[in-house]
Amino acid sequence: MAESNFIDYVKIYCKSGKGGRGSAHFRREKYIPKGGPDGGDGGRGGSIFLRGNRNFWTLLHLKYDRHKVAESGEPGSSKNSTGKAGADIYIDVPCGTVAYDAETGDYICEVNDHDEVILLLQGGRGGLGNTHFKTPTNQAPRYAQPGEPAQERMVILQLKLLADVGLVGFPNAGKSTLLSSVSAAKPKIANYPFTTLEPSLGIVSYRDHKSFVMADIPGIIEGAAEGRGLGLRFLRHIERNSVLLFLVPADADDITREYEILLSELEKYNPELLEKNRVLGISKCDLIDDELKEMLSEHLPEGVKTVFFSSVSGQGLQLLKDTIWQAIVSDNRHDVSNIVRKNMREGLSASFLEDDFDMDSIYFEEEEDEEYYDPDETDVEVDW
Ligand code: GDP
Ligand code: MG
Repeated sequence: MAESNFIDYVKIYCKSGKGGRGSAHFRREKYIPKGGPDGGDGGRGGSIFLRGNRNFWTLLHLKYDRHKVAESGEPGSSKNSTGKAGADIYIDVPCGTVAYDAETGDYICEVNDHDEVILLLQGGRGGLGNTHFKTPTNQAPRYAQPGEPAQERMVILQLKLLADVGLVGFPNAGKSTLLSSVSAAKPKIANYPFTTLEPSLGIVSYRDHKSFVMADIPGIIEGAAEGRGLGLRFLRHIERNSVLLFLVPADADDITREYEILLSELEKYNPELLEKNRVLGISKCDLIDDELKEMLSEHLPEGVKTVFFSSVSGQGLQLLKDTIWQAIVSDNRHDVSNIVRKNMREGLSASFLEDDFDMDSIYFEEEEDEEYYDPDETDVEVDW
């Protein structure tokens, strides 16, 4: 199989900036021989955030940019001036990215919406300058706080979208229409082939506040597995779905034959795709009457759950969702956090664990050896 650019898993090294040290400076001016402490606070270190960005579909942009090291805060200086804060880093990720701790496999957070920002690693607070430590008994404190240390973490980012159900069907099967009728996604709909040039995702609300993600994948044409048309590029997305919903329109010449062609296209591309749970949806059933529906029912493909539905009339949509849901929950690969854990346990270098991280390639900043001065242990009240 050709190497895919569809990167849905990446391990990155993150390090926040440490806080700048506080200054222990004393005011020295020409005619003021004994100026008091005037050491400013250190600036805070840069933090690292994840940010949802709907323009990204994969984690490819992170594959070759996996060291995220935020700037340290600058030290405080004389005249009570506070050091400059280290710049924060925003890691743009596709909506639907889940972050896990790479060492423990623990879930950290997930970013679902465009522009949603979630803190991954907090930058260190700047150390307090000596002015804060002035007390009635010690008018000239010679110490200041070092900044808080940086934090570092190996983080696994994984796309959860495209993991639930993918639509598989020829152009005009009604994929985009279905997606827009069961979710808030607004894919392009038109009565000509290839209206959908990019996969489009929608969150489908299910009973009891559950939801699943449906991906509209551009039409497969016969021969897609040999690289004809747009199909091949998008077959890759299908690999990331847990369940496949095949769509064949009710007014097709031969429903079983269309379904079989779709199956064989998938098989030619990657036989593992046939191991996924699948459902066959007969779309546009508003176009046929009950009599025809009964007739068709007698000649449906075997070995696959089949649901007649219409996105236009709404007929069968709830049954379709129920059937999809059953197929999703019966897929034990559904929980991505389990996949990550399982792979770590087994030490697998499965395709999505291929890029094992090279720790030697990380550049470490020289650490100054400084004692962290805890304000709680002083007799002064210190507000951070
Ligand atoms: P896609 O290529 O599989 O994404 O198909 P579209 O969703 O773009 O639909 C192709 C055509 O079929 C459009 O003209 C739709 O209006 C029409 N269509 C889709 N769903 C239904 C349906 O449930 N009933 C009817 N009568 N037409 C539908
Ligand atoms: Mg479409």
